[in-house]
Amino acid sequence: MAKNSEPNFYESVQRNFDKAARHTNLPEGLLEQIKVCNAVYYMQFPVKVGNHYQVIEAFRVQHSHHRHPTKGGIRFSQKVSQEEVMALAALMTYKCAIVDVPFGGAKGGVKISPRDYTPGQLERITRRYTTELVRKNFIGPAIDVPAPDYGTGAREMAWILDTYSALKGGDIDASACVTGKPVTQNGIRGREEATGRGVFYGIREVLNDKGLLKRMGLEPGTEGKTMAIQGLGNVGYYTGKISQEEGGFKIISVAEYEGAIYCKNGIDIDALVAHRKKTGSILDFPGAVNMEQRKQTLEVACDVLVPAALENQIRDDNVKKVKAKIIAEAANGPVTASAAEYLLKKGCVIIPDMYLNAGGVTVSYFEWLKNLSHMRFGRMEKRFDQNRYLNLVNLIERETGRSISDKEKSFITKGADEIDLVRSGLEETMVTAYHQIREVMKRKQKIEDLRTAAFVNALGKISSDYINMGVFP
Ligand code: GLU
Repeated sequence: MAKNSEPNFYESVQRNFDKAARHTNLPEGLLEQIKVCNAVYYMQFPVKVGNHYQVIEAFRVQHSHHRHPTKGGIRFSQKVSQEEVMALAALMTYKCAIVDVPFGGAKGGVKISPRDYTPGQLERITRRYTTELVRKNFIGPAIDVPAPDYGTGAREMAWILDTYSALKGGDIDASACVTGKPVTQNGIRGREEATGRGVFYGIREVLNDKGLLKRMGLEPGTEGKTMAIQGLGNVGYYTGKISQEEGGFKIISVAEYEGAIYCKNGIDIDALVAHRKKTGSILDFPGAVNMEQRKQTLEVACDVLVPAALENQIRDDNVKKVKAKIIAEAANGPVTASAAEYLLKKGCVIIPDMYLNAGGVTVSYFEWLKNLSHMRFGRMEKRFDQNRYLNLVNLIERETGRSISDKEKSFITKGADEIDLVRSGLEETMVTAYHQIREVMKRKQKIEDLRTAAFVNALGKISSDYINMGVFP
């Protein structure tokens, strides 16, 4: 690749790594060890589709073994390639380090377009893929733990668990071999919304960060800010819904596979999803106008642009048209390294993928812990807390001679359920990680962007793991 030409996704990740590495004084060998992919498993297997057999290509990449298990989703997409999965696996390593989730990074990819297959065929493909992983010891609660990604969800995770359990009878921890499972099958409440909720918390932190906002001439706070979203899958949908309901954002444009819409007064995300369910498309949504091309959502003038689909969406050929002040990378790698350079020079703030979409893996970590403990969060303390708060409220009522309504009382004295604990753990994680990244920027004045700071933060943690292991002196 020529120095200034547009890098592909994997090269973008490597280029960003190199840029950050220059701000550390880590030895070259250690940096190289962190940068490379530790294991790449490429497989091809036959699956019966209709009356014939089709050979399916698939990958699992474990980027870093500095912590075990390795962790990362499985993507079903026609665009899957080895380099793409390697880039995604590398991002998982940095992501986990940034949010203090004690895993190495991994990623899987199956080169199929799910919409071309029936559920029965998808099940066969998923089960066969899992069998291949088991055969090569590439899956297990202590080895490598997959999760959903683009094109997969709880249903596929249930198939993976069932296949793994069938092959590994007697493993009492089998349910921790995969996360993002249905709640009824040892999943955790709040995992489905987790990435989008984490994206919202990350955006909210930036919008409360007066130092950064000054650069863009934005007032602090989320209320009334405008947002455009590319992709209404799991991540885009929950980001939009939670930003709207809890942040007071106005969503002025949404793009999906079939097209894009615009409405300056705001689009109700749940109503849009209902409309899409009914008509099969987001187009012709009442009150909104259809845009000529779906990529125009990326060019809308707004406070926050949320690319929540795939990599390489903002690149040299369209970056000059991007008008958003904040680019919130809900997807992995949506902005190429060279497009990012242009945006940063213009004063845009990019909230980097490896921080912003880490909510998914954070709650996956909670799910894994829940599976290993064989108990739901909150089971031990919920009633204890409830009684304690009730005693306290009763005491205050007695001492003051005033009483509150039953509704208020049950609100104040409620003990935490699993969903409350998951959300609170996620919020704490996203807020803490943001401030760690900002601390790096304050300590190292030459770092001007959040991605480089996030990388430097991750490199510090991963390198000390290697040093503590005695691998590097
Ligand atoms: N696929 C998600 C990601 O890219 C989640 C991974 C996980 O939960 O392990 O972060």
